Amino acid sequence: MQRERSEALSERARRVIPGGVNSPVRAFRGVGGDPVFVARGKGPYLYDVDGNEYVDYVGSWGPLILGHAHPEVLEAIAKAAADGTSFGAPTEREVRFAETLTRLVPSMQKVRLVSSGTEATMSALRLARGATGRDKIVKIDGGYHGHADCLLVAAGSGAATLGLPGSAGVTDGTAADTLTVPWNDEAALAALFAAHAREPDKRRIAAVIVEPVCGNMGCVPPAPGWLEAVRRLTREHGALLIFDEVMTGFRVALGGAQARYQIEPDLTCLGKIVGGGLPAAAYGGRADLMAHIAPDGPVYQAGTLSGNPLAVAAGEKTLELLGRPGIYEALERSSAQLVDGIAALAREAGVPLIANRVGSMFTGFFANQPVVDYSSAKRSDTARFGRFFHAMLDRGVYLAPSQFEAAFVSLAHDGRALDRTLEAAKHALKTV
Ligand SMILES: *Cc1c(COP(=O)(O)O)cnc(C)c1O
Repeated sequence: MQRERSEALSERARRVIPGGVNSPVRAFRGVGGDPVFVARGKGPYLYDVDGNEYVDYVGSWGPLILGHAHPEVLEAIAKAAADGTSFGAPTEREVRFAETLTRLVPSMQKVRLVSSGTEATMSALRLARGATGRDKIVKIDGGYHGHADCLLVAAGSGAATLGLPGSAGVTDGTAADTLTVPWNDEAALAALFAAHAREPDKRRIAAVIVEPVCGNMGCVPPAPGWLEAVRRLTREHGALLIFDEVMTGFRVALGGAQARYQIEPDLTCLGKIVGGGLPAAAYGGRADLMAHIAPDGPVYQAGTLSGNPLAVAAGEKTLELLGRPGIYEALERSSAQLVDGIAALAREAGVPLIANRVGSMFTGFFANQPVVDYSSAKRSDTARFGRFFHAMLDRGVYLAPSQFEAAFVSLAHDGRALDRTLEAAKHALKTV
């Protein structure tokens, strides 16, 4: 497969953009080689600048559950744009959208729109601290919640791919307020709470933030009882539970992971799908907590483009289409067919592969043992993943360029796209 134009663009890009990319995971550092420069997308397919076609499992890293360039979403964006692209004043569309979000995710009694997942988690944590008067937060080893300073401690996603324990530029003071525990480890979380129980208020734990299904160390589901334990421990210790559903929201169920696992968090962060491929995100939760947000309360948070009409129109149309009956059942079926198929091909080829999947998000870890947390994820054979990634790419399948990322099946992935993927995997697994 020829990728001369992509290679030339990579070189040009590296001269004027750090690493040649506007987000680190887009560079192929975890797998080697030059990134593919995209010209356009349609349904389950991406087309690069050299004219190659790929079945896409990145889906813009999660938002595109309807596939690329969905005609109804494009139409909604065009219609909104004709009336103006930004006002910095409230619109009816934002009210309607907030009503939809509070209906689909009932734990969000009130919701504030922002423009990225990073803003959503950063704001939710500021709120948690403001509302509790406590400073410490707990996150999961290998959990990723965007790039706010306090969350770049033991972070997943690009930081995991690059093997960075944290980030330069984060002060010791900030990092010291972020505590971490392994995913699925109830005893560790209980011990952490116990250790802080008799501290003065400022030094206690304000909130625990989790991706209710980990996606940014690769897909790692919650063990039975784990989310219940996190809910119980936070309640017992007067800390808030924040579900970062930026990836899982409208992905693992219409009501997100909290609907799928029947756990009610105090605050929820949404992003990715909620913007339908445009920059929209949200955070919200109990009305008494949201009352702390300015202008009602003293916790400040703002945004010039928050509630942007184009982004809200794209999100609104996307959620409307996801609300049709049978959608999540269809995604479950096609995703199971694909992932079970890949697992069977790996067995036939004698390649140890741990296939983790929740609904339409999945990761195939090149590992011998079950992957249940970040330390087991890190035992994967990343060199082998890199070979698999390139073998798939050369056969027209675009996966995330890292072992520590989730793949996404969209509603546009039809029989042809899935068959092509399985055919590619059959050959790729024999060569790795
Ligand atoms: C992608 C992601 C974020 C960050 O969202 P951005 O829009 O990239 O800032 C936060 N949390 C989770 C769980 C994510 O997957």
